[in-house]
Amino acid sequence: MVNLSTIASGLQPTNRLYLSDSYLKSTETTLLRYVPETRKSGYIVTRDTIMHPKGGAQPSDTGSIESPSFRATVKKVLEHSGVVIHYCEVTDGAPTLEGEKVSMSIDWEKRYLVMRLHTAGHIVDHAVLNEVGHDLLSSRAFHGPPESFVEYMGKINRIDLDLLAEVSNEIVRASKRVYPVWVSREELWRVVSGAPNMERLPSLETYRVIVVEGVNAIPCGGTHVANTGEVGRIVITGVKELERGFRVIYNVTE
Ligand SMILES: [Zn+2]
Repeated sequence: MVNLSTIASGLQPTNRLYLSDSYLKSTETTLLRYVPETRKSGYIVTRDTIMHPKGGAQPSDTGSIESPSFRATVKKVLEHSGVVIHYCEVTDGAPTLEGEKVSMSIDWEKRYLVMRLHTAGHIVDHAVLNEVGHDLLSSRAFHGPPESFVEYMGKINRIDLDLLAEVSNEIVRASKRVYPVWVSREELWRVVSGAPNMERLPSLETYRVIVVEGVNAIPCGGTHVANTGEVGRIVITGVKELERGFRVIYNVTE
């Protein structure tokens, strides 16, 4: 594998279009760099992207990038120093013309499921904090197939899964608006609600906060649906005890 820092070296951070519009299925942009790995695979960097990289509790998007001179299937999206790197299988031609206009499209069905799961994750988190206690420290989460979950530190004696599902699905049925806001570090404390472990946040000039209207507002760089009604039905599939905490596993259905 080619070193990611070599691929990103000297490039500006990528303009991530999905941060303001998660519903973009395709876009036109400019090819900035291609670093081949083999004759048929390599790494593409573009000025803009609609694809979410692996990380931030989400799986990588997949899709395609093409121009009149090449066609590539995006297998995995990675990130280094703010530069989004598309690992591709090149199926036709070669993406060697830097500065060339390219079109990018996303595997939408897969992404839309992740959007529903990610918003569901924020809702389940709210339900857990409500049911178990607001001082609970969340530790890790993953919003995507095959298994979505939110994890917390500490022990629980008992957790009512039916109640968690009920609280969660009430929010889904209430069709609450979901939207991002950008705030400064000073404003963050005023805007955020329902995120108990803020001290773990990196130090940034601006933060993106995902607001589920009337429910919570959590710093997050992920892709979300615009209305809780789009989530479908939330199913709490189980609770797993971990060495130093517990995991609440959930899924969404139609
Ligand atoms: Zn999130």
